[in-house]
Amino acid sequence: MNTGPRIACEKKTVEQMIQIACRGKHGTREELCASCEQLLSYAQTRLSYCRFGENKTTCGACPIHCYKPDKRTEIRAVMRYAGPRMLFHHPFTLLQHTLHGIRSRKK
Ligand SMILES: [Zn+2]
Repeated sequence: MNTGPRIACEKKTVEQMIQIACRGKHGTREELCASCEQLLSYAQTRLSYCRFGENKTTCGACPIHCYKPDKRTEIRAVMRYAGPRMLFHHPFTLLQHTLHGIRSRKK
């Protein structure tokens, strides 16, 4: 199971994105709604078992789509909604995430 800093960072990013989407689209405040909670734990489990581990690229650029089709549709909707909003809510996470993506693409 992956426990390194790359995966931890990716988990944090996905959590923040789901939070933004849940608040914006489902009107929740502190806690996530049940379906977003489920999506988050699914995404984090996928990351824990990601076969690339610490060498992984960002999930958006990953050649292997390890999500089930329905989860993939859900997470895509979250990313589409939360992506631009990350700039306002979590600029540092977004920057870090973007840099990881660029760095792993160069390899
Ligand atoms: Zn929600």
